[in-house]
Amino acid sequence: MSKPHVLAIPYPAQGHVIPLMELAQCLARSGIKVTFVNTEFNHERIVKALSHTGDINELIHLASIPDGLEPGEDRNDLGKLTEAMLKVMPEKLEALIEKINETESDKIMCVITDYGLGWALEVAEKLGIKRASFLPAAVALLSLAINVPKLVDDGIIDSNGIPLKHQVIQLSPGMPEMSTANFAWTCIGDIATQKIMFQSIRLNNKSAKLADRLICNSSYELEHEALTLVPNCLPIGPLLASNRLGKSAGYFWPEDSDCLTWLDQQPTNSVIYVAFGSFTVFDQVQFQELALGLELTNRPFLWVVRQDMTQDNIKAYPKGFHERVKNRGKMVSWAPQQKILSHPSVSCFLSHCGWNSTIEGISNGVPFLCWPYFADQFLNQTYICDYWGIGLGLDKDNSGIIRQEEIRTKVELLLTNKCYKTRTMNLQSRTMSSVTEKGCSQKNFKNFVNWIKET
Ligand code: UDP
Repeated sequence: MSKPHVLAIPYPAQGHVIPLMELAQCLARSGIKVTFVNTEFNHERIVKALSHTGDINELIHLASIPDGLEPGEDRNDLGKLTEAMLKVMPEKLEALIEKINETESDKIMCVITDYGLGWALEVAEKLGIKRASFLPAAVALLSLAINVPKLVDDGIIDSNGIPLKHQVIQLSPGMPEMSTANFAWTCIGDIATQKIMFQSIRLNNKSAKLADRLICNSSYELEHEALTLVPNCLPIGPLLASNRLGKSAGYFWPEDSDCLTWLDQQPTNSVIYVAFGSFTVFDQVQFQELALGLELTNRPFLWVVRQDMTQDNIKAYPKGFHERVKNRGKMVSWAPQQKILSHPSVSCFLSHCGWNSTIEGISNGVPFLCWPYFADQFLNQTYICDYWGIGLGLDKDNSGIIRQEEIRTKVELLLTNKCYKTRTMNLQSRTMSSVTEKGCSQKNFKNFVNWIKET
């Protein structure tokens, strides 16, 4: 008998592709065939990166459709990308599914879409295929998004999502506090982009009603209150390669695995791991200040400096920096992050607080220094610093710069006050219990697999 066949489609950003690919690998291990659909632009990068280091289950088939932008256009302009996708991708996805379904024995029986691609649920509904929505972010973010109509009614934001005044709200007594200035859609690009992203949230909330199942990369141990507010959202996380004893896949860039050998040579619990995900961009002043801050800590550090991490791609390190830190500092352009965070030499994670990085740090018991950049990262910082108490935020000075002394002070505070490590390890053990055989996330995952297999 042929295997059940699922089509999975992520939002075309690194932090969305990785966890959905992880889910795909877990499904494949449960005997489900997965057609994983990237945009053509990302497909090319992923295939290239996979040829270096990747490990992908043979039941996963990589496919691609265009994203509606021209080859040279800026795909980090999320407003433009979101609009272009909406124009082109639904039709292309429908055509792809129809083509696959010409083979009677191989028909797609379920579509799993990123929550941010609500239109893909509409395509699946039109074709009469059952469907699930996957949330790769915090459930707290989803509960905020779902509450948008109420926020408008209560006069907290206007119909474009713009906060009417600065205030701190709480969606329910047990939830993390949220500052209106840090609502995800107000911390993303210029005003035009913010409006597009806000309207996209409203559209996705509407389409989400078409999903037969809603699953997320979180756990009851992490987000009990938020999950109480969205009871139909079933956590199956943390989704990590280490949970299935495999390698990660779905990276846009080849990883530099030499840094693992370098880590082997560092003392236990000594290295500051510094990484800002796939989007964050620094201006020259801030980039230099960060470099000097790392130098000032006098501790070993491993710093991911992506090719496109600085404006104009010019990485002007401070004069003499490389020479001064050569015995204890390592810079790489893309790291095997999950493996690094599980390495005993790592002491803390200086992070932009993307949801995947947050989950990965917790799963490995590594405390955080928080340096959020945009979108939901401020909310994740609140979780880390104020809610779970497993990290410290870095404060900007009057000119909006995080200074080298601030970096040194917070590193010292985090590493000398043992409370942070202890709390992180407690949260780690509770969180990881959810993916053990009897854990809640594991049960939800098994139910999800059974639901897919039902005809
Ligand atoms: N990542 C990685 N190597 C790096 C930097 C990041 O493998 O050098 C991975 C990281 O493990 C995470 C993802 O990229 O799974 C980034 O997702 P996140 O949600 O943290 O941030 P985003 O890139 O979406 O801002």
